[in-house]
Amino acid sequence: MKIRRLPVLHIEGYKELSIKTAPKEFLKPEHVYIPTLLPSPMDVKKEVGDHVLLGEVIMESRGRFPYPVLSPISGTVTAKVKKWYPSNKMSDMLEITNDFKEETVDTFKNLDPDNMTRDELIEVMRKSGLVGQGGAGFPAYVKYATKEKVDMVIINLAECEPFITCDYTCVLYNAQTFIYGFRYLLKAADCNQGIIAIKDKDINTKVIDYLEPLLDSNMRIELLKDVYPAGWERYTVETISHKTYKALPIEAGVIVSNASTCYSFARMLKEGVPPSVKYLTITGDAVNSPGNVLAKIGSPIPEILPLFGGLKEGHNPENTHIIAGGPMTGKSMFFPDFITTQTLGAVIFLENKNKDKKQLECLGCGRCAERCPSFLTPVEIKKELAVGNIEELKKLNVTKCIQCGLCSFVCPSRIDLTYSVGKAKEMVLRLGRK
Ligand code: SF4
Ligand code: SF4
Repeated sequence: MKIRRLPVLHIEGYKELSIKTAPKEFLKPEHVYIPTLLPSPMDVKKEVGDHVLLGEVIMESRGRFPYPVLSPISGTVTAKVKKWYPSNKMSDMLEITNDFKEETVDTFKNLDPDNMTRDELIEVMRKSGLVGQGGAGFPAYVKYATKEKVDMVIINLAECEPFITCDYTCVLYNAQTFIYGFRYLLKAADCNQGIIAIKDKDINTKVIDYLEPLLDSNMRIELLKDVYPAGWERYTVETISHKTYKALPIEAGVIVSNASTCYSFARMLKEGVPPSVKYLTITGDAVNSPGNVLAKIGSPIPEILPLFGGLKEGHNPENTHIIAGGPMTGKSMFFPDFITTQTLGAVIFLENKNKDKKQLECLGCGRCAERCPSFLTPVEIKKELAVGNIEELKKLNVTKCIQCGLCSFVCPSRIDLTYSVGKAKEMVLRLGRK
């Protein structure tokens, strides 16, 4: 299959803001909150009053590839509450009150990955509820349980969205553990070629220098251009393997895993602890001291923000633009009162300089279509969405949108095309399911 040159764009990174200081820790929250409806509806296994261990199954996701959700702390289920999820939606959640004992299930203790088979490694991954922590949230074991031959495992360390430095921080401060995890991801894929994909930019020099002496002989680092969306799976796979695919990277013999996912897998094998913590970037020009934090999953953001000196004087949640995730693909949040998850990489607090700037009429400049890496025509999609023309939306291939945000970013009229294309995609997929 011929590889098309994907339209990409260099955009300002603002990464320096959050890498000036060592990461902080937020590992002893009084309560954690675990959603029962998002990202998909769950079968809840625990009731109010039940005691839970760290790593105990508290719910099971429904769907084609079910996975368990484990408690990130030991303690007691104390309430069912409604709270904000980082997709700017409310969800029912279980509140677990910490007993601060960190009593952990035996499932992951004393694992000996050198003497485990590929299937056993994949089974541990499944039981741990590990999901792709780069944002997709797809259960990690599914990729590794493939029957296809895997030629290459790529660890995605591109972290291509502006502001986010959680993967960078995770690897910089845990380089040995990260490589340990990568070794066994290769084993879980029965593959002898591992590549760490990272952007070719100055701030990455340090992490590359740390990693290089630690690499096994079957691992190497490959540099990606400093463009957006370099971390998009298709861009990474096509750039590195020089092969393309229709639906999934495995068609090109490739598995892609995110760097934080690799680290979580390593901790489980090495320390017997299932995914219960995640690095998170707290940044933006409205934050006093931006940086990163290793936080328990399910922790409330308002409790984490004070570690970074809170918001600057004169700023409050009402006059600040709060984004859960990156500025290109993340969600603008009404309130900062949401929780961390396995997939949340950043919370950005920006001075709301654009609040008085109005959206203008479309100028017909065509930039949105020129820059779309999925070769869509966002302006046309927006028009067809407005009249509800589903057949035309299907012809315009809306389901190929990866929600990268580039169309909105380049639009001189400040039209939120990403939102419209996302809506159109949702509509077509929903009708398809019916
Ligand atoms: S958000 Fe969707 S439509 Fe817009 S540029 Fe990205 S892929 Fe294209
Ligand atoms: S980039 Fe904006 S102004 Fe230009 S064609 Fe697309 S929607 Fe219209």
